[in-house]
Amino acid sequence: MKNGQKYMRNVLIADTSMKKIIFTLYEPYSNDKKIKLQKGSILAIKYATIAVTSTKIKKLNTAYYTIIRNTTGNYQQDLLLKDFYEKNQNLDNFLFIYVKEDYKYLKDIKSLIEYNSEHNIENCKLTFITKAYVENFYLDENSLYKSCPLCSKKLIESPDNKYQCLLCNKIFNQPKYTFKITLRVRDTNDKAFFKLIGTRANKILEVEPELVRHYLDVGNGQELEKIEKKILFNEYIFTATLTSFKYDKTGKIMHNINIDNMEKADGENLKRILKLIQDNEDND
Ligand SMILES: [Zn+2]
Repeated sequence: MKNGQKYMRNVLIADTSMKKIIFTLYEPYSNDKKIKLQKGSILAIKYATIAVTSTKIKKLNTAYYTIIRNTTGNYQQDLLLKDFYEKNQNLDNFLFIYVKEDYKYLKDIKSLIEYNSEHNIENCKLTFITKAYVENFYLDENSLYKSCPLCSKKLIESPDNKYQCLLCNKIFNQPKYTFKITLRVRDTNDKAFFKLIGTRANKILEVEPELVRHYLDVGNGQELEKIEKKILFNEYIFTATLTSFKYDKTGKIMHNINIDNMEKADGENLKRILKLIQDNEDND
């Protein structure tokens, strides 16, 4: 509570998959003036963000750019959901809301970076879902780095061909390789660079970094191309985390977008979003 006024509200939302998720509405959606919520409300939510509570529950949040409407914008869909709610409202005591879309466009992510820059927001960490296709991706020397076999931190190479981890304070004769891949992704509005790092890359590319290292060493372009083709030009639902820091030496705000999960885009409902969140938790 702030100034005696309610400044946020939590509701439970669901769709026809009957999966539920907590949705936290902040100002200006925190009261009934802007958006009216009651059991069985049908809503279209665009550009919400995924947040993690202190108890590690992942949920949806409104952000300054979130758009909520009291209809899905499709009359047939509204009727279907209304009918579904009426038939099932005895099953549960939750607010029934349809989530039309919670994907963000790349341009919204970029405007968030600008927003952070203008408002001097340092060390922001925001997880979002976006749908985009992989426009460019190739495997080269920059796709891998020499990492610590214990903690995956980048190793310092010494003149006697040994490798030191400053975090573990250990010396190794052989480094382990870890993926650090940059994907150029594009949606209908814009493009962006996403980073795919560590064991998530092994899983998605279905290959170990050591094998890619080998293909690079022997110059086996054919095998490298086979791996690239697995994800190139496919559309994915990305769960990714944006981090931004203050300014670099040139005064430019630095940001990273790291991929937490990517799954081929072939369905869009809350069940799917929850699965993405669940997979994320399994990886933590
Ligand atoms: Zn280490």
